[in-house]
Amino acid sequence: MQEQLVQEITSRVVAALQGSGMVEAPKRVPIGVSARHVHLCREHLEILFGKGYQLNKKKDLMGGQFAAQECVTLVGTKLRAIENVRILGPERKASQVEVAKTDAIRLGVNPPIRESGNTRGSSPIALVGPKGAIYLEEGCIVAKRHIHMSPADAKQFGVVDGQTVKVRFDSGRGGIFEDVQIRVDESFTLEMHIDTDEANGLDVGKTMGILLK
Ligand SMILES: [Zn+2]
Repeated sequence: MQEQLVQEITSRVVAALQGSGMVEAPKRVPIGVSARHVHLCREHLEILFGKGYQLNKKKDLMGGQFAAQECVTLVGTKLRAIENVRILGPERKASQVEVAKTDAIRLGVNPPIRESGNTRGSSPIALVGPKGAIYLEEGCIVAKRHIHMSPADAKQFGVVDGQTVKVRFDSGRGGIFEDVQIRVDESFTLEMHIDTDEANGLDVGKTMGILLK
C-alpha cells in the first residue's frame, strides 16, 4: 500500500515536471524486427521464378514496400543453405540479401554491416528459386539498425536525417544500442528496425525503445 502511494506520488511529480518542461518526456520508439529477407531486380526475379513473373503481395509494409508470398533458398559456402527466405517487393534496381549475423554464420558467409542499398563489395551468395538459381558476386549484408520517421517526428525528437543516436531498452535483458541511424522521409511512420539477433540479444519483445542522443 505504502509502495503504491509512493509510486503514485512519483508519477504525478514527474508528470508535473514534464508539463513544466523541467524534465524531458522519454522519446519512445516502436520496434519492428526484420527477419532475413531478399530484394530482387527484374532480371533475377525472372531467372528464379520464370519470364514475366510478378510477385504476389502477402502484407503491406511502410514506404510502399510489401512482403511477397514468394520465398527463395539462400546458399552459402560449402552448400550450407537456409530455406523459405521471404522476398520483399517491389522489385529493385539491384538484388540484395539481408541476413542476421547468426544466419551468416550458418551460411558460412561474412557480410558487412551496411545501409540498405549499399552493397558494393559485400558478400557473395547464391539464391535458388523454383525455376532457377543465381550467384551474386556481391549483395549479402547485415542491415545497419535504423529508425524511420516523418519530418514531423524528427522535429519533435530534435534529430535530423542521417544522424546517429542511441536507443535504450528496459526489457527483460535490457541494454543500449549505439550507432542507430535516423532516416527521415514523408512516407515513413515512426519505427526502429533491428534484426532478429538484435531483438533476441536484448529480448526486446514488445518493449518500446527510448531514444537517447
Ligand atoms: Zn527499415
